[in-house]
Amino acid sequence: MAENESALRDELFYNQKQGYDLIDVQERLKLEAYCEDYKAFLNASRTEREAVAEGIRQAEAVGFVPYVRGMDLQPGAKVYKSIRGKAIMLAVMGKKPLDRGVNIAAAHVDSPRLDLKQLPLFEKNELAYFKTHYYGGIKKYQWLTIPLELHGVVTKKDGETVEVVIGKDPEDPKFVITDLLPHLAKDQLAKSAVEFVPGENLNLLIGSIPYADEGKDRIKLAVLSLLKDRYDITEEDFLSAELEAVPSFPACDVGVDRSFIGGYGHDDRVCAYAELKAIYETEAPERTAVCILADKEEIGSVGVSGMQSAAFETFLQDLCAGQGVHLRHCLENSFCVSADVCNAYDPTFWEAHEYPNRNGARINYGVGLCKYTGARGKSGCNDASAEVVGTLRRIFADNAVVWQMAKLGKVDQGGGGTVAADMGNRNIDTIDAGVPVLSMHAPWETVATLDCYMTYKGIRAFYKDR
Ligand code: MN
Ligand code: MN
Repeated sequence: MAENESALRDELFYNQKQGYDLIDVQERLKLEAYCEDYKAFLNASRTEREAVAEGIRQAEAVGFVPYVRGMDLQPGAKVYKSIRGKAIMLAVMGKKPLDRGVNIAAAHVDSPRLDLKQLPLFEKNELAYFKTHYYGGIKKYQWLTIPLELHGVVTKKDGETVEVVIGKDPEDPKFVITDLLPHLAKDQLAKSAVEFVPGENLNLLIGSIPYADEGKDRIKLAVLSLLKDRYDITEEDFLSAELEAVPSFPACDVGVDRSFIGGYGHDDRVCAYAELKAIYETEAPERTAVCILADKEEIGSVGVSGMQSAAFETFLQDLCAGQGVHLRHCLENSFCVSADVCNAYDPTFWEAHEYPNRNGARINYGVGLCKYTGARGKSGCNDASAEVVGTLRRIFADNAVVWQMAKLGKVDQGGGGTVAADMGNRNIDTIDAGVPVLSMHAPWETVATLDCYMTYKGIRAFYKDR
């Protein structure tokens, strides 16, 4: 009787296993090697532009070439198209014609940060600052008193674009936003967390030595003169600049057992790298494999380099034209893994999740499949169909991918979205899948190495078997 009962439990209950109980030593070595490569990618990619440049550098090294309209593409051909240097699409041509659909993995490479305003430089009480405007959903207090770097470009009046990077080189200075000492913070600490750091207080400290003359704004003048020496730019050039202040924390292992990676911009460069690595290893698949690294997801996927941009259709339309097939027929038979991070269940903040937690993604349980995101009654989300979830469930089972279902916290606690809805709206079957993250959108986020590796393994299997 007892034996029958336990057999029945095995048959009927869904028993999730911890990832480390499912992988062997060989796989653990692969996982560690993969994560070393990922950390290097993350360190090279502090902004969306840098992620795209690094992707191109790596892709070209494994045989991808820039797509040229009208080019003849045989199965196995590897091409990429840069979207104005801020987003990228890569494709490995499949054996089946494009109207049988393509396999798309779509991640984003923009991350929350502080952008410099267009006239950022000011001096107050003999200290010089850059004014910022935050990008994406941040808790402002997390950006105080941490080392920051400045990355981006300045386009000068003559059309020349200068790349600016200050703070990355170990010899470089860094920047900081100051905070009030606790001794004098009685009034500040009485305020709520959303209001105690006004957005206009997010000013980077950049200098204090005056220019050696008698005039006004001597610190500002000295700073401009240093920038002129280094980049040959003036204050007016900031008007046509995109400069991003990002945390100056290199990615590194976390934990005595090194089971985590800490870093800035895991959301969503951790999935972007999983896609890149998967498509590098994809050779002449059945269906064409498409890897998208989009920009602007953190501010709604809008704009020319965001996932709603026609740039995506233009590239796919060009590929379809090469085979004389309709883009709409291609989209109708396509499948998209919206590869974006999900929230990892955090025991410290258990109240934000259902209790006991059964539906929230857990650390070390593998790639998280998120059927729906949204807010309140699933508002604004893609909500993948049962058939779509079933497709990935089968592929993951066939390829020993450790995976789990993920859910954005308890009902009515908040909400969010990804590029999934933008792909679904195009008549593409779509589901979110990605790495669970602790402290998402913080300047330094934490992910588990096993989950990073399984996300890559899942996308690799998807390109091969869908
Ligand atoms: Mn994301
Ligand atoms: Mn995000």
